[in-house]
Amino acid sequence: MSICACGQPTVAEACCAAILSGDEQAETCERLMRARYTAYVQRNESFLIASWHPSTRPKTVPFDALTRWIGLKVIHSQGGASDASGEVEFIATFKQQGKAYKMHERSTFVREQGQWLYLNGTFL
Ligand SMILES: [Zn+2]
Repeated sequence: MSICACGQPTVAEACCAAILSGDEQAETCERLMRARYTAYVQRNESFLIASWHPSTRPKTVPFDALTRWIGLKVIHSQGGASDASGEVEFIATFKQQGKAYKMHERSTFVREQGQWLYLNGTFL
């Protein structure tokens, strides 16, 4: 066992890696949200763009060179295989120049053609 970047205990190639590689589709919006967090950790822009709803999708994803993501805690989530929309409330921790900060956000997701997509987020 090891720990995925999203904080879940995992075996190699499971958890977010399977979603990021396209081997698995996220069944719940929480799973997609975790994979997107891991994509931020790994600066995987193509996955972030591909999992963004076309109506809110940016052309590029700005990665702050000074930001290092160090932790994710999912507080609440709803949205599974039989839902068309869902949301995930989480706290992501990051470091900038040695100082730790927390970002508390509620993300909204929609599911189209069986695929969860990130719509938008609200800072709490
Ligand atoms: Zn993960």
